[in-house]
Amino acid sequence: MTHSLAPTNPEVRAFEAAVASIDGRSVVLDETYFYPEGGGQPADRGVLGGVELAHVYSEDGVVVHELADDPAFEVGDEVTGVIDDDYRTYCMRAHTASHVLYGAARHVFDDLGYGGFGISEEKVRVDFETSTDVDDAALVELERLVNRAVWDSRDVSWEEIPVAEARERDEIAFNVKTEEGVFADADEVRIVTVNGWDWGACGGTHVSNTIEIGPVEVLGRSNPGEGLTRVELAVGPSAIDHRAELQQSAYEAARELGTNLGELGGVAAEIVESRAALESELADLKAEVLGARLANFETLEREGLTWKVGAVSGFEANDVGEAAKDARGEADVLVAVGDSNAPFIVVASAGDVSAGDIVDDVTDEFGGGGGGGPTFAQGGGLGTTADEVLAFLREQR
Ligand SMILES: [Zn+2]
Repeated sequence: MTHSLAPTNPEVRAFEAAVASIDGRSVVLDETYFYPEGGGQPADRGVLGGVELAHVYSEDGVVVHELADDPAFEVGDEVTGVIDDDYRTYCMRAHTASHVLYGAARHVFDDLGYGGFGISEEKVRVDFETSTDVDDAALVELERLVNRAVWDSRDVSWEEIPVAEARERDEIAFNVKTEEGVFADADEVRIVTVNGWDWGACGGTHVSNTIEIGPVEVLGRSNPGEGLTRVELAVGPSAIDHRAELQQSAYEAARELGTNLGELGGVAAEIVESRAALESELADLKAEVLGARLANFETLEREGLTWKVGAVSGFEANDVGEAAKDARGEADVLVAVGDSNAPFIVVASAGDVSAGDIVDDVTDEFGGGGGGGPTFAQGGGLGTTADEVLAFLREQR
């Protein structure tokens, strides 16, 4: 034997069975209620004949129980199987939650196909084939509908129906790629129905009423592949913890912003808007201050040309460069030296003396690099102080 009896009798937690074969630590029973890994649901945990299970899997239609230790029983013995209640119950709740989520997606998505599903200890993922943009509002609506369907206490049932009938019923969700085994060697397919909500071809274990699922939290979405949207949810304790974390950060944000949860979005938007306005105002004021400083630079006469030279601090080279072009005014050359860790130089010239040559002279003397054309040039990484650069420029008169 054979198929697991778990999907049809998901409430069974202990059973007696005869040992049909043993190969090392791999045991086959005449019948089993352990669920073998498959269809996105992990293998049951538990104890068989007093020995802990390492894994349960299906091979060529036979359920193999892999023990964590050598078996203390022989072929023909009657052994007791005990299914780990906490883990199986979690898997049943999580698995049924995925069907309820799919049912919710029927209401939220324009077009919908089933793309796969998986259960881990922290979360459940369901992949949807849809062209709908699953935005924040869609996630909120999915979560609302799922929890509503849980509260509504919908019966969950399962039955075998002919494959041809299943294919004709448009409401039944299945994916021939992931659910291949369901159809391949059988005339019948197992349909799991969440009353009035969802219909899916599935061989897993489920609770018998949605109320047993408990609280569900949608965790987020991602894109696992072309045309697929993955939605992840948490069920039970991990959902409760996730909700508490979200509440915590929402309350914290509201407290920092001096508002309440209901007003949080509006207040945050106002703050972002007013910050943008302040940044723009600050940039204008800094440009004004920079322009005034450059205009007040000391004036030098050299070879019949008027130079303005000076140092500025607290401004970016690019901003100083833009300001220098305007601030040169009637002067032939304006040289601004940025007073930072690695001073920079910006030169704006009318063109009678090349701005690029002036930058070259300074970088030849002090190191650093840069360049430019006759009317504008800049250099950076000078290995000296702004005062030294200004002294050098004055000496060259
Ligand atoms: Zn299922």
